[in-house]
Amino acid sequence: MPIKVLSPEVVAKIAAGEVVERPASVVKELVENALDAGAGEISVEIQNGGVALIRVSDNGMGIPPAEASLSFQRHATSKIAGMQDLENISSLGFRGEALASIASVAQVEMLTRIQGEDAGLYLVVKNGIMIERSPRVRTSGTTITVRNLFSTIPARLKFLKSPATENSHVSNTIQHYALAYPEVKFSLFIEGRRSLQTPGSGKLRECIIAVYGHEFGEAMLETVAEDSPGDNGIGVSGFVSPPALSRSNYNYISFFINRRWARSRALTFAVEEAYRGMLMTGKHPAAVLNISLPFPEVDVNVHPTKMEVRFRNEPAVFSMVQKKVRKTLLQQSPVPETAAGRTSMPPEEPVQALWESLNRDSIPTERKAAGTSGQNIVRSELPILRVLGQLSNTYVIAEGPQGLYLIDQHAAHERVIYDDLINQRKAREVISQGMLQPLTLELNAGQDEIMKEKGQELPGFGFTLEPFGERTYLVRTVPSVLKDGNISETLMGVIDDLAKGEAKAGWEELIAASIACHGAVKAGQVLSGEELTELVRRLEKSDSPRTCPHGRPTMLHLSADKLEREFGRR
Ligand code: ADP
Ligand code: MG
Repeated sequence: MPIKVLSPEVVAKIAAGEVVERPASVVKELVENALDAGAGEISVEIQNGGVALIRVSDNGMGIPPAEASLSFQRHATSKIAGMQDLENISSLGFRGEALASIASVAQVEMLTRIQGEDAGLYLVVKNGIMIERSPRVRTSGTTITVRNLFSTIPARLKFLKSPATENSHVSNTIQHYALAYPEVKFSLFIEGRRSLQTPGSGKLRECIIAVYGHEFGEAMLETVAEDSPGDNGIGVSGFVSPPALSRSNYNYISFFINRRWARSRALTFAVEEAYRGMLMTGKHPAAVLNISLPFPEVDVNVHPTKMEVRFRNEPAVFSMVQKKVRKTLLQQSPVPETAAGRTSMPPEEPVQALWESLNRDSIPTERKAAGTSGQNIVRSELPILRVLGQLSNTYVIAEGPQGLYLIDQHAAHERVIYDDLINQRKAREVISQGMLQPLTLELNAGQDEIMKEKGQELPGFGFTLEPFGERTYLVRTVPSVLKDGNISETLMGVIDDLAKGEAKAGWEELIAASIACHGAVKAGQVLSGEELTELVRRLEKSDSPRTCPHGRPTMLHLSADKLEREFGRR
């Protein structure tokens, strides 16, 4: 194809893809707009997972009639005017992209009225084009209704999960905004039934009770922000769970940075650190923390969805969060301070002992394969790890709340590829990726026989192969988990494994393990800091992070306790 500049509609759809990933992203943008408009009440309604309908109504300031249609234009915003404002963003929106993006992938109706106007204004925009504009009755505020989301982008629609899953993403979004804005009364209706209502009293504890229930909300301990000179202007306030009220995952830890909901692995780690010695292994705290800091200290302009933030001085924020949470726990938790001080480490869990013993060469091989034998100890979840670097271009060095981890990059990558493939097949949606340029795969005769005999298994794993002359195939798509790997090498390896052919555990496992083994990064391969972190992040999500699909360990763990003992610190 010759080089051409894309048409504005195509550009708009591509850009929309970044802002509007799923119904919950639409809800997020519309709720942010309502909050920016100063609303005290926000009501959200969704139908069919948000695909059929999303409606967000607010009692905010409304949009002046003369500006209403402009709000649908890309980069049209009332929130910043120039470069200098980017340093001091206090509104949730500022990119002027949301309405334009949403309107390019759905039908959007806007009904808005500002104080002092006689009537409201009603607009309908369909796939980016305005098709109706008329006066209508409304009290002051704005209602945006989004219908038939992604109906013109079947690929996106197909990517969405079940309505139940999409509903849960929307609830999760509303819960977080409700927690960030206790003074705003939020309600959420799913398929006409009320699923959440917050009082809007301005009291965070009441909000936590509305979101998480009475038992939970009443037990939470309050962290009070206090102004002390050594704090670098960083304020931390909110609620954290007493150690007795732990959870089995990290989903109950929420951060709001200058009232913006954000995810932060570093801060999650800081909270976990504060509970060191207080929680059992595999248990995690709950926290709702508001962190305030001078606007120039935080960059929210990292990604269009604004979920990620970057701190100018991350270590300072990290240590402040850890300190404040720890202090709250020591002051208010029912555990006396001295006792908490003494149990500075959790009791060594069996898995730790197992991996430490694997460290010794004398262990017979049968025990090394213990990982696959279904013993309960290997199922324990991996804590959030912080990557420190790469050793010998082969191992990832990471630290966690309980010490040092040395992770075999190949074995770990095998595990995550294998898990992705098996999970995708379970969910009946193997995600494949088209090659920009089809790859030519030339096989030897033996391999070609195998291909003819067993190659029909490959499409089920995301490969599309087309015969292309003698013993040659065109590879058009590959499993997306392999997108950065050496495809011919992987395919050849898989075919060779198929040739060896006994599938004791079943073909599915054999092929998945083979793809994982040949597609994974190798020992000796230099990985960037980002790649290392990505690998560890994916490994943390695995149900069996500590073994590769063949049952070999992915990591060695040196507990903080052992380090202390080895260095004669106690
Ligand atoms: P941004 O929020 O980044 O400015 P949007 O596309 O989300 O961009 O919105 C464009 C403009 O439309 C906003 O700057 C604001 O002036 C106006 N607007 C959108 N939603 C509302 C609302 N609910 N109430 C008042 N004004 C709104
Ligand atoms: Mg906005």
